[in-house]
Amino acid sequence: MTFPSRLIDGYCAFTATRLPLEQSRFQKLAETGQHPEVMVICCCDSRVSPEVIFDAHPGELFVVRNVANLVPPYSPSGFMHGVSAALEFAVQNLKVKYIIVMGHSHCGGVRAFVEHRGRPDPGDFIDNWMSLITPVAQSLGDDKNMSRSDYLARLEHASIVATLSNLISFPWINSRVAGQQLKLLGAYFDVGSGALEVYDPVASAFMPITREGVTAE
Ligand SMILES: [Zn+2]
Repeated sequence: MTFPSRLIDGYCAFTATRLPLEQSRFQKLAETGQHPEVMVICCCDSRVSPEVIFDAHPGELFVVRNVANLVPPYSPSGFMHGVSAALEFAVQNLKVKYIIVMGHSHCGGVRAFVEHRGRPDPGDFIDNWMSLITPVAQSLGDDKNMSRSDYLARLEHASIVATLSNLISFPWINSRVAGQQLKLLGAYFDVGSGALEVYDPVASAFMPITREGVTAE
């Protein structure tokens, strides 16, 4: 049997250092179950781990990762809905207080959408999945007056806002948001700098987050 030696080394480091510090927490979580207050929807991208970015402990974040941190609109059909199932469990069972949609810079899924735009491969899982942001791209208009990187960043940001709208299409999310039992938040992580922005729905803009909280630029 082969298992990547890097992961064996990493697990040994975990059992030697972090596990002893977290042992009682793991034991309690095993006995009483998980009660995370925060659900994070983020990209599969290996550079954007929410547990690392938010310095989270076991049991604190309920995480769903998919290509480009998307949520399809509510659709109670007979298809398999992995994201919807995770949302249902987090909202209905765990009763999380926050759902954070965290996008990021240099997203390969968003870049694939732009590069394949107009000629998607119907047999391509990524193109099919990324077609979810077609309305977002249409709302932005053309990209003639900006660089490719600026356009991609705009699309990455706008996609987060659209995903927040898709979340509201789930009736049990909508009712909890209306009853102020649940808050939906957008965030954007810059891979190169490590900077984190948070979406301000009043200003319809992303604001940098600092130790003091979210501040206007
Ligand atoms: Zn991504």
